[in-house]
Amino acid sequence: MSRRRLVYEGKAKNLYEGPEPGTLVQYFKDDATAFNKQKHAIIDGKGVLNNRISEFLMTQLNAIGIRTHFIRRINMREQLIRAVEIIPLEVVVRNVAAGSLVKKLGLTQGEALPRPIVEFYYKDDKLGDPMVSEEHIAAFNWADQQDMDDMISMALRVNDFLSGLFMGVGLKLVDFKIEFGHIWDGDNQVVLLADEISPDSMRLWDVKTGRKLDKDVFRENLGDLVEAYAEVARRLGVMPENVAAGEDEGGPKLVH
Ligand code: C5P
Repeated sequence: MSRRRLVYEGKAKNLYEGPEPGTLVQYFKDDATAFNKQKHAIIDGKGVLNNRISEFLMTQLNAIGIRTHFIRRINMREQLIRAVEIIPLEVVVRNVAAGSLVKKLGLTQGEALPRPIVEFYYKDDKLGDPMVSEEHIAAFNWADQQDMDDMISMALRVNDFLSGLFMGVGLKLVDFKIEFGHIWDGDNQVVLLADEISPDSMRLWDVKTGRKLDKDVFRENLGDLVEAYAEVARRLGVMPENVAAGEDEGGPKLVH
């Protein structure tokens, strides 16, 4: 049996060579990490839920004209994606004060922000993903001005759309992190939404009760993370079967 080539090993996902040039297989692991890997656990079923939730959200975003790397889901833990050249930035959009912004600016958690705020962080685990300005990004050539303009406008569109979508199922989108990549389209380089969009990379609070249904459940030891993510999947109407058991459905199997 031939082994698939591992292209990239991440904290919560692996990337494997895809079936055709220009594609990759994105595999969702059960690993949960926080505080730059200082906290780590394996949480049975998390990868299955994130695969489904991310598939759903990427598909919805594609449908409103936001270009993403997502092609299709392959099985319970894997999706086929377009290979992109990742821009080494994390783009965070915030609607409500929480997390690092509360600490940085002395705000009160839960305070509504005057308007959505977009922030850039440089992807570097050794440095703890420092926040950077557009000046840093341009000076060090991590992205050019056109890329930055595209990322900001796409991030705000994603925020508008997802805020409404989650509000429709009784969840407040407090903040989220997304990543982008480049592909060549003829002679033009275009920016695509990449990586994942899941409760690992966003804050979602129940509108009525304030209950947290995202990775803060893990960061702050608030209870059962899979149960929280399953609640998000249920509300979105994408709850997979056999999540607790972590069972995979048919389709190509990963060779470890
Ligand atoms: O920690 P902070 O408040 O800056 O996080 C803002 C948002 O970005 C949160 O939704 C968090 O889950 C997400 N995030 C992430 N990956 C990181 C840093 C933050 O998904 N490395």
